[in-house]
This record gives sequence, structure tokens and C-alpha cells, in this order.
Amino acid sequence: MPTVPPGSLSVVATPIGNRDDMSTRAIATLRAADVIAAEDTRHSRPLLVHHNVDVPLVPLHEHNEREVVDGLVRRMLEGQSVALISDAGTPLVSDPGFRLVRAARAAGIRCVPIPGACAAIAALSVAGLPSDRFVFEGFLPPKAAARRGRLQALAGEPRTLIFYESSHRVAESLADMREVFGGGREAVLARELTKLFETVIGEPLDELATRVAGDPDQQRGECVLLVAGRGEEADARLAEGQRVFALLREELPPAKAAKLAAAITGAPRKSLYEAS
Ligand code: SAM
Repeated sequence: MPTVPPGSLSVVATPIGNRDDMSTRAIATLRAADVIAAEDTRHSRPLLVHHNVDVPLVPLHEHNEREVVDGLVRRMLEGQSVALISDAGTPLVSDPGFRLVRAARAAGIRCVPIPGACAAIAALSVAGLPSDRFVFEGFLPPKAAARRGRLQALAGEPRTLIFYESSHRVAESLADMREVFGGGREAVLARELTKLFETVIGEPLDELATRVAGDPDQQRGECVLLVAGRGEEADARLAEGQRVFALLREELPPAKAAKLAAAITGAPRKSLYEAS
């Protein structure tokens, strides 16, 4: 099989930090392409130069994808091979490219995956959380109310949850997760994967949220947050939380009783309070 079938679209994963996490096949595919559609051509150029890839680049990002797709599809129908890359990792995973792949497939163009790095999968592979079934949620909404609403909708999800998060919101998101999922739920912060300051910390949400809030170093770089799905332990914690809440409620106002019962048992404060 030729490296790049003529008239095809190769969707090529690039590294998420370490430049050498680029497969031999990915490099060969990029070198053989007629044109490379790149999310940010200035960002990708050093990587391409490092791997001796000298092919014309066209920008394809969320603001111009609609306009450039037709031209790229036309070029592929004329027999040119196009490679798609994003700034980091696998294109289309919280990155542009969906419209191009959809249009290419609709036009009968062969789309070839050239797999490689993906931060969500790299994080899952070292998190030590159940990995047989998982849900990729991408980025949470930046506004607090929408973010909490999304988390609330996921509170009963039994599969491992994977989120991308920007470093300046990671402390806020962890605080919301503690509130909605309960401080006892296991979570993992995977930061700066494949880079110099790679850090993977796994602990209950209560400890992780407190640690990150108190340590500005944990609020730097790129992060993936993973949270264990709701399991039998979560049900047991909630039952215990409800028992402790009922006892405290006899002496304290509901908000205070819920806060203490949540801190003692790791049950979600919100569920205790709302059930009161
Ligand atoms: N397409 C990429 C992929 O395959 O992972 C994801 C692109 S998305 C725009 C960027 C987000 O991915 C970052 O905000 C962060 O949440 C996550 N990410 C990317 N590189 C990472 C790294 N080296 N370590 C941890 N998270 C990373």
C-alpha cells in the first residue's frame, strides 16, 4: 500500500508535548502529502521542520473550516492527497476537522487515520481508574452555572469520566466536582503529559480539590481531569451521608448539617441538602 493513497485525506495525530511522539508512518504521510491542512500553520511549522517535512500548508481552524472545506475536497477529487493535523494530538478530538472529514466522506473520498497521541487516552492509560468503559466529555462550559449543570447531569454516570480543562479553571472545576460528585469520589489530575513537568496525581476529590486550590504550580500547563464513575461505594457513601445528615439535622440548620455530613462521609453535599 502506498504511504498516501492519491486523492485521499489522511488524518494525522501529532505529539501532545514530546516532539518524538510522532510515528514513522505519520512523518512519511506528511512528507508525501500534496498539502497539509493545519490548525495553526505557525504553531505546526517547527514540528514539521524538525521532521524534515517540506509541504505547503493551508490553515484550517474553527473560524475558516466552512470556507476551506470545499476547496480541499475539490483538490482531493482531482487526485491530490491532503493531510490534516491540529496543534497537538489527534485532529477532531476537541480540535477542528469534523467538517472536512464529513465532507470528504460524503464525496466518497477515502479517509485514512494515522493514529498517535491523544491527551485523553494518554491520561487514561496511567490514571489507574477503570478503563474498560469511559466517557470523554471534552471541555466543561466555562461559566459556573452551565458547568455545574453539566456535572449534575453526569453525577450518576457509572463509567470513568474524562475532561479537558484549561489550567486557569482547574481549581474551580475541581471544587464543583467535589460539590456535585462528593469529596469521596476518586479523581486524577494528569498535567503536562509527555513534557518536563509531567504530573499525575490521583486521590479523592476532596483532597485533590484542596491540593490544587492551594498550590499554584498545579494550576499551570495543560491538564486532563478524570473522575471515577459512580459505583457501589458512591451509593454506600450517600447512604452513610444521609444517616449522618439526619442525625446532625436534629441539632443544626440544614445547610450546616449537609456541609458537615458531606465532610465526614464524602457524600455529595448537594444531594444531602436537596434531599432535606
Ligand atoms: N486534539 C488534542 C488531543 O488529541 O488530545 C486535544 C486538543 S484540546 C484543544 C487541548 C486540551 O487537551 C488541553 O487544554 C488539555 O486539556 C489537553 N491536553 C493537550 N495536551 C496535553 C498534555 N500534554 N497534558 C495534559 N493535557 C493535555
